[in-house]
Amino acid sequence: MYRICVIPGDGIGPEVMEAALTVLKAMDLDMEFYPALAGNACFQKLGTTIPSQTVDLALQTDATLFGAITSVPGQRSAILTLRKELDLYANLRPVKSYPGIEALYPDLDFLIVRENTEGLYAGQEEYTPDGAQALRVVTRKASRRICEFAFRQAQNKGFKRVTAVHKANVLMKTDGIFREAFYQVAEEYPELEAEDLYVDAAAMFLVKNPQRFQVLVTTNLFGDILSDEGAGLVGGLGMVPSANIGDKNALFEPVHGSAPDIAGQGVANPTAMLLSVVMMLRHLKEEDEASKLEKALLMTLKEGRVLTPDLGGDASTLKMAQEVQGHLESW
Ligand code: ATP
Repeated sequence: MYRICVIPGDGIGPEVMEAALTVLKAMDLDMEFYPALAGNACFQKLGTTIPSQTVDLALQTDATLFGAITSVPGQRSAILTLRKELDLYANLRPVKSYPGIEALYPDLDFLIVRENTEGLYAGQEEYTPDGAQALRVVTRKASRRICEFAFRQAQNKGFKRVTAVHKANVLMKTDGIFREAFYQVAEEYPELEAEDLYVDAAAMFLVKNPQRFQVLVTTNLFGDILSDEGAGLVGGLGMVPSANIGDKNALFEPVHGSAPDIAGQGVANPTAMLLSVVMMLRHLKEEDEASKLEKALLMTLKEGRVLTPDLGGDASTLKMAQEVQGHLESW
């Protein structure tokens, strides 16, 4: 039996989580769900964005499903805390186009691997007498670990090329270390092509010629920005899932945030959350169930009868999830 920690969060988080649980409970899986609090609503209730019980539950369960949270300046970030406490060092963000969904490019399938524990999100930011400064932390150990992860992913998923993205011409020391680690790891994978690009060039290629990419590996902030750019290529933020992986724990969440502008209306696209569930099932080695859910979702998207407004339909989040659930029986 799998034990899953469930953190719905704020805004559309609980709405897409309801969709995910509706579908998961209809599947042939022995799974128990443990709800936990985090985010801004949690702060209003308990005075903390991430109670220790939530961290403990995430540590003890087989995987965590995370909806979305509203980040309020000055509050401790619940998701950054979880990534740190669970040592979820690799953030995987697949960018894939799906038939039936209007996308800038119809044939994309690449993976962004983002370092998740340091870089400019190391949490070392402070006011100075005339402004503020943030520390960009890049260690050899974390750089090597994320590059190894990226090459392993490329190998397992049948990709042929890994691209390191950095800005070593300006950030010579931090990104110098990152690039050096990348090429050291690359030597262990002679069958894979290794290249590196400056982040500005990578951003341009992502718009102009994204088909050239297979696996991208990069530091925290660059990965955050480029993966939203990737989402824009394949139908928007409602379409892109992510996995946060460590050696002992894993957390799965849509790339989008809590979308306060549409929260409470029941119109959020559940695709990113459902694809995050697919990633979780693959991580748990439930390949058959993962592929069944993926196909049911693809069928829903391709038929285009029951879609949320961002995809051109008029269905609610739950209606679209129920349509996916209905298609599960086809496989
Ligand atoms: P946060 O502060 O929590 O990051 P945000 O609004 O700044 O929230 P997102 O939640 O990522 O950032 O949303 C950005 C835009 O994308 C919003 O206009 C939102 O309506 C849209 N969006 C995000 N997720 C979805 C979704 N699942 N379905 C439909 N639209 C979405």
